[in-house]
Amino acid sequence: MRLSLPSIFWLSVFSTLAKVTSTTDWLWQPPQYLKGIGPKKAGELKARGIEDVYDLLNFLPKSYRDYRNVTPLAQAQHGVEASFRVRVVKAPFKAKGRRFYRATVEDDSGTADVFWFGHQLHGPAHDLKQDDVIWLVGKPDRKKLTPAFSHPKVFSDFHKVEIEPTYRGIPWLSSGIRRAVASIAENLSQADPIGAELRQTWDVPGWGEAFAEIHAPDDSPNLNDVFKQRSRGYRRVAADAFFAYFLGMGLRRRALKQIAAARVQIAEADMAAIVGALPFGLTGDQRAALDAIMADMAQQEPMYRLVQGDVGSGKTAVALVAAAAAAKSGGQAVILAPTEILAGQHARFFDTVLAGLGIRIARLTGSLSPVRRKEIKFMAEKGAVDIVIGTHALLQDDVNFADLRLVVIDEEQRYGVMQRTALRSKGGAPHTLQLTATPIPRSLALSLLGETAVTTIREKPAGRADVKTDLVPEAGKRRVLEHIRAELGLGHKVFFIYPRVDESETTAGKSVEEMYKRLSDYFGADKVGLLHGRMPGEEKDRMLRHMREGRIAILVATTVVEVGVDIPDATILVIGGADAFGLSQLHQIRGRIGRGQLPGTCYVLLDDDMGEEALARLDAFAKTNDGFEIAEADLELRGPGSIVGTRQSGMPDIHPVLLRRFSSLAKQVRQDAERVLDDDPQLLAPVWAPIREILRRKWDVQVGLGVL
Ligand code: ADP
Ligand code: MG
Repeated sequence: MRLSLPSIFWLSVFSTLAKVTSTTDWLWQPPQYLKGIGPKKAGELKARGIEDVYDLLNFLPKSYRDYRNVTPLAQAQHGVEASFRVRVVKAPFKAKGRRFYRATVEDDSGTADVFWFGHQLHGPAHDLKQDDVIWLVGKPDRKKLTPAFSHPKVFSDFHKVEIEPTYRGIPWLSSGIRRAVASIAENLSQADPIGAELRQTWDVPGWGEAFAEIHAPDDSPNLNDVFKQRSRGYRRVAADAFFAYFLGMGLRRRALKQIAAARVQIAEADMAAIVGALPFGLTGDQRAALDAIMADMAQQEPMYRLVQGDVGSGKTAVALVAAAAAAKSGGQAVILAPTEILAGQHARFFDTVLAGLGIRIARLTGSLSPVRRKEIKFMAEKGAVDIVIGTHALLQDDVNFADLRLVVIDEEQRYGVMQRTALRSKGGAPHTLQLTATPIPRSLALSLLGETAVTTIREKPAGRADVKTDLVPEAGKRRVLEHIRAELGLGHKVFFIYPRVDESETTAGKSVEEMYKRLSDYFGADKVGLLHGRMPGEEKDRMLRHMREGRIAILVATTVVEVGVDIPDATILVIGGADAFGLSQLHQIRGRIGRGQLPGTCYVLLDDDMGEEALARLDAFAKTNDGFEIAEADLELRGPGSIVGTRQSGMPDIHPVLLRRFSSLAKQVRQDAERVLDDDPQLLAPVWAPIREILRRKWDVQVGLGVL
């Protein structure tokens, strides 16, 4: 069924755009050229994956603070930021060279002092006069007799009282971005890559209006319900992401459709031998997943299947059997893992299980020596190896296979969709199996992935012991240490996970290096190991081996162990700086324990100054062990962050929050993207230049360059 429209239609829709294509260079410049953001701040943004103006615009607030909702002074809570509408009783006394100012304010309910130390007053604070009515925003100190504010925000006029967007991890952006967006408002409208007619079809505003609403809102009600309200700004951002996504998918699919897949079929006896080589019997769900996979792979049409199952549900074994089947059928399989550690672990597991069946396993990661890499690449190309397990090093153009029949992508949520399909295009049209522990609701998976078939593993291997999660305030840390001592005495192992490698001012006490030192002092240096992403590959492997073999019993690590790492006799997991992690990420981290028969305890260390929002999140996390529930809660609580760019993995994708809120829009945009491609399969028309640019830069899709 083709819904192709004549090209003249599309040309007329987009002809108005052609002229702006050359004027959008500023979009791809670092944000430092925007008002209020200099090189230093741009550097900070870059560290968070925001490299240019486009990224910044698409980095969405996690919530909004509406300073217009005022609290009576009498109800001010100690240390809780709020806004107050007050009258100035005593204006600050200003004298030359003064470095300390004090004002007194009141409302109907009470009085407060306001202090400024150490610098000259400026802005509205400088102009305060007695009887002025102003808005104060700050955290009151209620330990004094009279509530006191130091350095609150002062607004002199209601219309300037702002609704401030807040951004995950970048507090200063709240006040900076308004000016930045205002300064490019006009350019934004001009650079809009979507023409008026499509915007009308999708019922979305232009870029100018959309980004203003998102980053510099002035009067939308219930901003924090922005997704539930189907806000127009967010709707637009979603439409953009969908459009790019579906165009990219469509381009790939068209290219891949040309080729038929090699069927994977093996004798029942071979299948039984593979399954029999596993150190355990498969669960019913694992079996069901395998049946579906084998049925798919017997077809000539390339399989594209997503298997979702909670952490520890045993997805690796499913992948192993499927890969071994591809090998036994005379072809090759590739396993793509998100970290070197995981690639190493899989390689070891596959090797132990499959070596006896004559299946040859090789590992290809970035940390191999050039000579060794060359060797493995050569073997893959000549068919001298059956299963290659590796990291993104596998994606490079010079990696080729003699007869690749199956591509397995482990923890697929870590990759951008385009990266996932890139691997598919290596040699023939292999079947693709994706594994994920971050499930998305099935209907969404279908509307996003279209032809992908989704299998869910709900059942966990029998005999799994429970993991209890315990939120520990600072005062409770001793209890944790005692428990650890007891578990170490039983020969069990302990993980400490912290968000950062080294110390910075804002994260004191939350780095692995500092914790490593402290724990070494406390438990003895020979018991404790350190593991983080900046260590060389062999060093990481060695640490994990030591942990597995029991040469060390405590491993202090960053989230390099977040996914997949499997040490069944680890029973305690301590998470510090938990605020820095998303819920699903926390759940992944927690998945490091409770993998064997031993019950586990996950301690989440709370900071005394943790906000209510953070506590609520962690509470939700502690309450359930069900990854599906957590994924749902995560979507509700987290807000979307960066739309195109789950930048922790460096690769873009659509954020599930948007997908959920705007799923019917997704369907519409998908249709339109298909029509566009039916009409212009390589997106060569000049009107698509801006979209091509976005696809190339942000979605890793090269259009019209013969790469497909
Ligand atoms: P995930 O789904 O998170 O990738 P893994 O595949 O790493 O989980 O499996 C977690 C643990 O459960 C591993 O130690 C694995 O060996 C074990 N396991 C997997 N399947 C079974 C099973 N059917 N019976 C017993 N243990 C199993
Ligand atoms: Mg896994």
